[in-house]
Amino acid sequence: MRRARPILASGAVAFLLCAAATLRGQQLSADLILTNGKIITVDERFTIAQAVAIKGDRVVAVGTNQQIAQMAGPAARRIDLRGRSVVPGLIDNHMHLLRAGTTWTREVRLDGVDSRKQALDLFAARGRALAPGDWVYTIGGWSVDQFADSRAKFTREELDRVIPNHPVAIQESYYRTYLNSRGLEAFGIRDGSADPADFPKGSIVRDGSGRATGIVEGGMGAVRAIAAKMPRVPDGELEASTLALIKDMNRAGLTAFGVAGCDPNLLPMYRTWEAQHQLNLRIFCIDGVGAGTPEQVDRALPRIADIKLFQGDDFIDSVLYGESVYGPLHDPMFDSTSDPKPDQLAQWRRLAMEIAKNRLPLHVHAELTHTIDAFLDQIEAVNKVYPVKNLRWMLAHFNQSNAAQLERMKRLGMYAAVHPWNVINGGIMHEIFGDDSYEQPPLATIQASGIMWGFGSDGSAANQYMPFITLNYAVTGKMTSGLKVMRQTISREDALIAYTRRNAFFVFQEDNLGAIQPGKLADLVVLDRDYLTVPADQIKDIKPVLTMVGGRIVYDVTTVTATK
Ligand SMILES: [Zn+2]
Repeated sequence: MRRARPILASGAVAFLLCAAATLRGQQLSADLILTNGKIITVDERFTIAQAVAIKGDRVVAVGTNQQIAQMAGPAARRIDLRGRSVVPGLIDNHMHLLRAGTTWTREVRLDGVDSRKQALDLFAARGRALAPGDWVYTIGGWSVDQFADSRAKFTREELDRVIPNHPVAIQESYYRTYLNSRGLEAFGIRDGSADPADFPKGSIVRDGSGRATGIVEGGMGAVRAIAAKMPRVPDGELEASTLALIKDMNRAGLTAFGVAGCDPNLLPMYRTWEAQHQLNLRIFCIDGVGAGTPEQVDRALPRIADIKLFQGDDFIDSVLYGESVYGPLHDPMFDSTSDPKPDQLAQWRRLAMEIAKNRLPLHVHAELTHTIDAFLDQIEAVNKVYPVKNLRWMLAHFNQSNAAQLERMKRLGMYAAVHPWNVINGGIMHEIFGDDSYEQPPLATIQASGIMWGFGSDGSAANQYMPFITLNYAVTGKMTSGLKVMRQTISREDALIAYTRRNAFFVFQEDNLGAIQPGKLADLVVLDRDYLTVPADQIKDIKPVLTMVGGRIVYDVTTVTATK
């Protein structure tokens, strides 16, 4: 299926309203109208309107209550927004969404949980619901610094007390894992005896007497070794787990994703839902050809030439090469510095040259400042042979960027996909980078540079996924605990644009998504309070009350549609 381009261009509003008046709503009669709202359209002029008319899966008009009311067809459904604000469906430009579905209902997720007590209650409740001996676990997406009541590390004793009958492994971002006594036992970690060989040296934290504290830290190596042993949802429950994940995304106001790694074994399930008109979010895959040695690069080059993007539609498509180009130059999260080697960079360049030659868009993991500099050196060289401007090449994560790098990227016509680690990792980042962490990412510098940039989470392990928590952070510099972890705050408007219109461009859907505008798909979110006027510290508490994807209501807390 080729992507269908919408017929209507922006600027068609006046024509539509006029036509509606003359035709008395015959041809353009809307089948759904939302009135009495504050429609934050996020169009190019950041227009605020009162009402929206929708026909089929698209917005046909945005305007005043009176204008929109005239467009209602005889059987039109009407929703009175009662003053609520509405934003475009939020788009995360980088989430490991498909992978998350394989554990979602088995994990105890702590995204957005701002109380340690509540977290412990969630663990305890899960323990009660599981058969004795089953793992209680979490694979990232949180840190203790998000808790307003106590930011102390979890202890082995505390977890034993709360979940006595189950092994427990609570992974904190990609930084540490907390085990209880049963969890330690399951991994063969014993007090006073040597560490099991499969854990990196020193990663098992012990007290003075050799007793394991339950804390395992040693970066991604140690953390991933534990996560790999956690049970996935059984095959028979994969659909239910994934549907629960999708529901949670819609509840958070998310309607579309750049998806890092679209497992071909999982995609058919989503395609089936799409065929049944039951897919409640949009998936734009970021996928590449893995290569970690020069020989693998040799084999990857002809495969890159065979990659065909844009064969899908506005629900599922492959749109970007990424997120890794050459394995050895893929910086692990929380490494403090990098030293990319010339021979590795030569391999990276061979791959990048082929990607540019085939005019493929690129979305590449770029973590640490030396790596970003080195990638830009390579891209500048590639650019002399195959210009990358207009190919939508973007560096992703981008926490350690600076003004000079932004200038180089602008000259190359590149973009930035920003995934701020500090949203949940403020304390950890400060441990590693000291006060430099307050400038990671340098959001205001990025915004002021004029570069095209958008927000993503890199959830569900590296970060939490909830957009209003990230927007709160972008505007206030604070985590959910109130801890100030970032100095370079930006305006609400700029932050929202980065979560909507910019990301629509990043996933090649700028004609379809990212703003509430005539001709675009009707993906929108009704909020319980006004994003533009609520006190800044309360942005994190904003709750979607209705989420719509392509004119279909996919999430509704019922207070909205009940009042029509
Ligand atoms: Zn990454």
